[in-house]
Amino acid sequence: MFLLKDGSWEVKKTKGKGRGVFSTKKIKMGTVISDYLGMVIKTAEYDLDRDKEGLYLMYLTNRASIYPDLTKPGPHLLNHSCMPNCWIHAYYGHTLFFALRNIEPGEELTISYLLSPDEGTCDNCTHICKCGNNKCKGTMHLSKDKYRLWQQFQNKERKKTKGIRAIFGKNLPKLSSYPKTITSNPIYAVICSSSN
Ligand SMILES: [Zn+2]
Repeated sequence: MFLLKDGSWEVKKTKGKGRGVFSTKKIKMGTVISDYLGMVIKTAEYDLDRDKEGLYLMYLTNRASIYPDLTKPGPHLLNHSCMPNCWIHAYYGHTLFFALRNIEPGEELTISYLLSPDEGTCDNCTHICKCGNNKCKGTMHLSKDKYRLWQQFQNKERKKTKGIRAIFGKNLPKLSSYPKTITSNPIYAVICSSSN
């Protein structure tokens, strides 16, 4: 579910990355873009290899993940970038996306998918990055070190706001209220840095 005002974003075709989400109005740094809603499913029961096209699963915990309603536009349509302009924030068991910087009208909204390291487990890996940034790493997988750092950060963040108990097989309900802005944490700069 987008939390931006109607008419300030649109879904368009991209060059080589399927659909993407674009801003039509200026989005200020810190603005909360969306809440990743969908069906609560068991992480262990999901086969990522089955989902080569979309990568729509949003990991919440080792036990629970969110699978969005693919018939509706939503934050699952944001493409991956090695230098994204949006980032993830854990909030009361939900996953919010917010703007890392000011975003100009016409820019594509992007996020890092923060995939676990590919240690030879991703056969014929389709997680090739086509973000086109000059710092593109060519893959959506993080290095081992960066992935560990991100997991540690997320585990700490999740404890700050206790999640509501997710019920498997049910849609994650909307929160009664959302923050308007989120102050970014420098973790993103570490994750997106060119070093491993
Ligand atoms: Zn890239």
